[in-house]
Amino acid sequence: MMSLPVIDHFVGGSQFVGESTRFGDVYDPALGTVQKQVRLATTADVDYAVKAAAGAFPAWRDTSLAKRVQVVFAFRELLNARKQELAEIITAEHGKVLSDALGEITRGQEVVEFACGLPAQLTGDFSLNASTEVDVYSMKQPLGVVGIISPFNFPAMVPMWFFPVAIAAGNTVVVKPSEKDPSASMWVAELWREAGLPDGVFNVVHGDKESVDALLDHPVVQSISFVGSTPIARYVYEKGAQAGKRVQALGGAKNHMLVLPDADIDLVADSAVNAGFGSAGERCMAISVVVAVDPIGDELVDAIVKKMSAITVGDGRRSCDMGPLVTREHRDKVAGYLDIAAADGATVVVDGRGVSVDGEADGFWLGPSLVDDVPTSSKVYQEEIFGPVLSIVRVKTYQEGLELINSGAFGNGTAVFTNDGGAARKFVDEVEVGMVGVNVPIPVPVAYFSFGGWKHSLFGDSRAHGAEGFRFFTRQKVVTSRWLDPSHGGLNLGFPQN
Ligand code: NAD
Repeated sequence: MMSLPVIDHFVGGSQFVGESTRFGDVYDPALGTVQKQVRLATTADVDYAVKAAAGAFPAWRDTSLAKRVQVVFAFRELLNARKQELAEIITAEHGKVLSDALGEITRGQEVVEFACGLPAQLTGDFSLNASTEVDVYSMKQPLGVVGIISPFNFPAMVPMWFFPVAIAAGNTVVVKPSEKDPSASMWVAELWREAGLPDGVFNVVHGDKESVDALLDHPVVQSISFVGSTPIARYVYEKGAQAGKRVQALGGAKNHMLVLPDADIDLVADSAVNAGFGSAGERCMAISVVVAVDPIGDELVDAIVKKMSAITVGDGRRSCDMGPLVTREHRDKVAGYLDIAAADGATVVVDGRGVSVDGEADGFWLGPSLVDDVPTSSKVYQEEIFGPVLSIVRVKTYQEGLELINSGAFGNGTAVFTNDGGAARKFVDEVEVGMVGVNVPIPVPVAYFSFGGWKHSLFGDSRAHGAEGFRFFTRQKVVTSRWLDPSHGGLNLGFPQN
């Protein structure tokens, strides 16, 4: 048998093999075959990467803001010029169509562009004469070595929510990407080197639970930025916090779209289909449940079904709308929800298991699927499916819809569709969700705002990028200073009063 290419780690500016003899399979989901193997780091391998990052920290921390801007800006220019290469890597390992891969890179690039404004984000405050001849000022200093652990569904964008800001703020980074699609981070590491980032500032270790635990346990690692499913996010948050680290852990989602009876049906149907089936539903901001307020339900389902029939499914390198799911195991789990739906009394209106595909027979295919009248007691309603299965739940009133959304465990994203400004405003105010769209189905905040949900969609109090990102990756120091005038000598045991 021909041996497969192996993806190693990237530490201190070059590829690093380490001591591990454990490997993970990396698939091409459209072909359904293993194309590469990824080395899964041991605790000692992670320690080696952390030490490389710690070694690079003193010099990077002391690098001037002007020089840091130049490096981040150079990275942005290279990324912009060569993003097609990265998109092809993403499509080959994740399966999403090329245009969607390019879209995720563009959203990540926006964070790089935001990070280019680092001098403005890193200013402190200064008070002259806070007390007589006493000045007080604050400064923001980097944390040191920071860990970033990312999920499979955005192999470029999610790490880019964090590392441009972390690096801009003067930290050094160890990224642990998803072992399902690890190559994007390796490409990014090479790009940083080309951009002039000193060796050891950006490192990549691949792995599974062992490498995550090693980062969480490592005394030199100051913070963890995690994105993934809710059970792992909770675990990472609790373990990291116990170890005294700063942790932001973004978890899973179940996003509802509330459709009021006055909404534009055509716009709603387009939006539900785009947000439900884009990236094969493997987005944390995908719409998973459409909540139709009476009497719009039947008309809306008909419109959605009509739009769904136009979606083409196939190999993301061809001109299709939707690619395969990431692994066979995940595809089978998602397809299983269609059986659960039928058993629980819902109506499977469109069953994606019989979809015709422009791709190889062994790919991990599941076509767009629609399930109507989903009981809220069903697992189909309660669990995050993370695939192309869109549920419809019917409610009698706005209030019933709002209460349904607010009673959910997750609070990542939601949207309301209506032509009534007052109703939209009320929803925006009353809904208990972190990111809200008004006639916008996937309300992902722009880079200079912060990304993050409520409830079980985010553990910790800091969201990704924006001003909160810079706050997360720095610590403040407040300095009280007096340059002595000898005439102010003498004993005074109290606080200064004037
Ligand atoms: P996942 O939780 O399986 O994996 C995420 C990371 O955790 C990976 O790097 C993985 O190697 C690691 N990991 C897996 N099992 C672990 C364990 N037992 N102990 C320690 N670490 C472990 O998630 P996924 O399947 O890669 O990604 C999909 C999930 O991510 C979905 O739930 C989705 O909603 C969520 N997500 C959330 C956001 C957000 O912003 N809230 C964004 C993207 C994805």
